[in-house]
Amino acid sequence: MKKIYVIGLGPGGYQYMTEQAKLAIEESEVITGYTVYVKLIEELCEGKEVYATAMKQEIDRCKKALEYALSGKTTAMVCSGDAGVYGMAGIMYEVCEAYPEVDIQVIPGVTAALSGAAVLGAPLIHDFCLISLSDLLTPWEKIEKRLLLASDADFCIVLYNPSSVKRADYLMKACDLMLQYKSPDTPCGYVKNIGREGEEYTIVSLKELRDAKVDMFTTVFIGNSQTKVINNKLVTPRGYKNI
Ligand code: SAH
Repeated sequence: MKKIYVIGLGPGGYQYMTEQAKLAIEESEVITGYTVYVKLIEELCEGKEVYATAMKQEIDRCKKALEYALSGKTTAMVCSGDAGVYGMAGIMYEVCEAYPEVDIQVIPGVTAALSGAAVLGAPLIHDFCLISLSDLLTPWEKIEKRLLLASDADFCIVLYNPSSVKRADYLMKACDLMLQYKSPDTPCGYVKNIGREGEEYTIVSLKELRDAKVDMFTTVFIGNSQTKVINNKLVTPRGYKNI
């Protein structure tokens, strides 16, 4: 049996991980992943072979996982949040395309949109969409179009990868696009280090968000036209009357 688990660990520590993820890690003989995430589950890796690499070595990591699996070792590839949301699940299937004998099982995890929403209150109670501001693998023109159309359609929007050293002004550019359709007073929020040490959230208006300083460990939430702030929490009503 040649098996690869692609596991979403959730946002941070063990308490955010599903039981299914823990069991899959336990069953695996080899653990692969980005160094930071492997570190998060250090205790579960005891006695196992570990192959951890730096960021931006995703394909190499998947090929290595495939090698281990082909040698008969059950292998886990761990990702933060959910492995199928800007994670490794898709790449793993592509890398293993010529090896149908390898059984790939994706184990879902709590993605940053959901864990961050829970910190902020209930911003995503209705239709929402996720947009990554990283243009490493997506042309910026496409990101712009998605921001504009999602704003026009009055979606709540969650921004992943809102900033990096090279892309310091991307959040500002994104806000300017959303402001073409959304009110400057639209309630927004952002959460840093969800489920990790230093977790903190901030609630601002869309016009204030434009000048916010966020880093790559932050997830940003933009409300729809109904979203409001209740006791310093971000809430999108579902539409019930007479509350
Ligand atoms: N697979 C991950 C997303 C990876 S993309 C998931 O499902 O959550 C990386 C982006 O996710 C970061 O730039 C940030 O916007 C968001 N993110 C992931 N983990 C986070 C955390 N613990 N706190 C805040 N944002 C996080």
